[in-house]
Amino acid sequence: MRLGTLAVHAGQTPDPTTGAIMTPVFCTSTYVQEYPNVVKDGHDYSRGKNPTRTALQDNLAALEGGRFGLCFSSGLASIHTVITALCKPGDRIVCGNDLYGGTFRLFRKVFEPYGITLDVVDSTDLDALAAALQQPAKVLWLETPTNPLLNITDLAAAAELGHKAGAVVCCDNTFATPYLQRPLELGCDLVMHSTTKYLGGHSDVIGGALVVNDEKLHEQLAFLQFAVGAVPGPQDCFLLLRGTKTLHVRMQRHCENAAVIASWLGEHPKVSKVYYPGLPTHKNHAVAAQQMKDFGGMISFVLKGSVEDGMAMTARTKVFALAESLGGVESLIEHPPSMTHASIPAEQRRASGLDDGLIRLSVGIEDVDDLLADLEQAIEG
Ligand code: PLP
Repeated sequence: MRLGTLAVHAGQTPDPTTGAIMTPVFCTSTYVQEYPNVVKDGHDYSRGKNPTRTALQDNLAALEGGRFGLCFSSGLASIHTVITALCKPGDRIVCGNDLYGGTFRLFRKVFEPYGITLDVVDSTDLDALAAALQQPAKVLWLETPTNPLLNITDLAAAAELGHKAGAVVCCDNTFATPYLQRPLELGCDLVMHSTTKYLGGHSDVIGGALVVNDEKLHEQLAFLQFAVGAVPGPQDCFLLLRGTKTLHVRMQRHCENAAVIASWLGEHPKVSKVYYPGLPTHKNHAVAAQQMKDFGGMISFVLKGSVEDGMAMTARTKVFALAESLGGVESLIEHPPSMTHASIPAEQRRASGLDDGLIRLSVGIEDVDDLLADLEQAIEG
C-alpha cells in the first residue's frame, strides 16, 4: 500500500468487541490474568504493552517502511534510549553540526560526563564526514533537513561511510517526515522522530518514536523502553494516531505554502538570506531534490538590520504565533539563537553558520495569502 493509505489504516483494525472504527484509548495500567502469568497476547502491565501504543507503533513503522516501531514520551527520550542502548563509556558518537539544540545538550551534558565522546562534523560535506569516520564510531547521528539551517545531508552516501566505521546510522526524520523522505530505504539503520511535530501535527502532544528493521536492535531498544519506562500514555497515542491519518494531506499543503513564502522572502528587499531546500540557490538543493519528494514546511531567513530588528519583527506577526516547536497546522515564528538553540554555546552556533539574527518559520496550512500579508506587515513594522 502507498503512504496515504498506510497513514489512514496501518496498525489499526476495527475493535473486535464493538466494531469501533477508531482504535480505543486503553486507559489501563494493568490487565487481569487468568492464572499467574497467563496473560492475553503479552499484556501484563501497560509500561510493557498497551494496545493503543501498539497501534501507533505499527502505524509509524509502516509509514517509515520499517519492521519495528517504538514510541516514547518525548523525542529526546527516544534519542536517550538509542544512545543508552548502543554506547558505553569510551565509545564515540559522530554527529552533524546543525542539530536540534536539545539533541546537542543531551549528547554534551548527559552522555559526555559518562565518557561517551562526541565529534561534531559538517555532515553535508562528505569529505569531512569521511575524515571524521576514519576512527571507529558507535553511532552516526544525522538530521536532515537540519534545524534550523535546513542543511541537507546525502543520506545514502553518509550511511555508507557510517557503516564502514562500524556505526549504527541514525536519522532524525522529524523535519522531513516519511511523506518526504524514508531514511531506512536510503541505507540508515534507525529513524527517529519527535512525534510532537508533523506526525502529531496539531501541537497538542509531546512524543518520540524510533523505527528500525534489525531484530536485535529492536530487542535492545524495546528492553530499554520497558526497563526505563519513558512511554507515552494511551491518550497521547490516540492523538498521534489521529494526527498521522492526515499526514500526507497536511504535508502537501505545508510544502505548497512554504514554497510560495520562501520565493517571496527571497525577493524581499529587506531580507538578506533565505534558507529553504526548495530554492535553487540553496547549497544542497540538488541532494534535496534527489532524496526528498518535496521540500517541507520549514524556512529560515535573516532580515537586513540589527539582531534586535529581527527579534522585534517576530513579535509583530499576528497569524504566525511567536512560539517554539514546529510542524503543527498553525504557523509559528521564532528566533532560534535565543529560543530553541540557546542551549548551544554561541561560538559553536556561529561556527555552524547560525546567524545571531536568524528567524525560523514553521509554515502552517492556513491560506498562504494571509501568511504573506502577515509577514509583510511584520517586516515593514
Ligand atoms: N529533533 C528535532 C529535529 C526537534 O526539532 C526536536 C524538538 O524540537 C527534538 C528532536 C526533540 O523532541 P521533543 O521536544 O519531542 O523531545
